[in-house]
Amino acid sequence: MKMKWLVVLFCCFLFVSLSRATKYSDDAVLRILPRTESEVAILREELPIAIPVSWWREPSYVANYVDAHFSGANLAEARDLLDAAGLEYVTLIEDVQEAIEASHSPPSELFTASNDVEFDFSKYHSLEEISEWMITLEKTFPDLVSLVDVGTSFEGRTIKAVKFSGANSNSTSAKPGLWLDGGIHAREWVSPATNVYVLGNLLADYGKDEETTKLIDGLEWYILPVFNVDGYSYTWAEDGDRMWRKTRSTTSSKICTGVDPNRNWDMHWGEAGTSKNPCADDFQGNSAFSEIEVKSVASFIQAQKNINGYVNFHSYSQLWMSPWGYTDDLPPTPDYDAQNEVSAAAAAAINAVHGSVFQYGPISKTIYPASGSSADWTYGVCGILYSYGVELRDTGKYGFLLPEDQIIPSGEETLAGVKVLAHAVLEAGLPDRK
Ligand SMILES: [Zn+2]
Repeated sequence: MKMKWLVVLFCCFLFVSLSRATKYSDDAVLRILPRTESEVAILREELPIAIPVSWWREPSYVANYVDAHFSGANLAEARDLLDAAGLEYVTLIEDVQEAIEASHSPPSELFTASNDVEFDFSKYHSLEEISEWMITLEKTFPDLVSLVDVGTSFEGRTIKAVKFSGANSNSTSAKPGLWLDGGIHAREWVSPATNVYVLGNLLADYGKDEETTKLIDGLEWYILPVFNVDGYSYTWAEDGDRMWRKTRSTTSSKICTGVDPNRNWDMHWGEAGTSKNPCADDFQGNSAFSEIEVKSVASFIQAQKNINGYVNFHSYSQLWMSPWGYTDDLPPTPDYDAQNEVSAAAAAAINAVHGSVFQYGPISKTIYPASGSSADWTYGVCGILYSYGVELRDTGKYGFLLPEDQIIPSGEETLAGVKVLAHAVLEAGLPDRK
């Protein structure tokens, strides 16, 4: 009898393990190119009602491609619908589960034995590993670095940024500030990894490389590698979901969790490009700043009166974007020329490193209208002149599942773009803050 129960238990265990391991087996991502307004409307309105879809890149304009993730069970039906509507598409990723497994090595045992382990920038790291590493930075660069607790997440995790500045950091005259953050969308792993690379390399080059030293001496830097700490942890958890995007807060829905933290900022909140549906990936939340993570970061940034540069890093699509995001039905921002000049120079600097092509322009026209996003708020409400949303690698071959061998190239090219921005902030000086 006992044996029988053991067998039952073992079978249950096996079933749970297998069902987790194969969560996205046979799922595919299709790239669809709508060529007319009516094809855009089919994708935006009809398709999601007919077939469950997770947008990796949502429908926006004619001739702006759309990436749609379908489960294996729905794939044939999705292809039939697209064929019947005459929509053009190709398969971007044939098996999402295989792509997940191929994109990263098993969790490392970094820091479990000793805090002196060299941090491996070429790997994706869990929140715990990144946090441990940030603590070592404070010890390694005591005159340069301090850790800042920006707030506490819905699930009680600390949102931790690194602040650093070089010579004269105790001087009474304020230096202009530059804020970079990553991982606002949980599944966009290359964004925290790139921020980690940029942070580690700037610090390592201080006092050795003339340009870096000047930029660290002249500015007050803030880097927050993982913004959405709960969501990011959930993408790593055994019982989590690698494809999770949102926060992990409870919503008015009994079955759906989380808010899109880049649709939750208090700037034209709840207008174009967001959803009121708590089950949607771009759910705007019940009110602006409903998310404690967004509210905490926004309050912190607003309180630092010297910040005049801001980048919210995402993946994927390779875009360097300035405000406005909330509408495309507006004249450019009053500072558009200056903002766009830096975008162009950053894109050129990125291109010079490995040849990656980054498009640039306003958020609403470059990717799609998205209201309540961070860069609109930091510019429009806070008055931070150089506010950007940047989509890192790639352009869709791997999408959110970028293999680890692209982390360092992404870090190298992004660092070149960040330096262009840092020079611009240094030149612009302190902001005309609201
Ligand atoms: Zn994103």
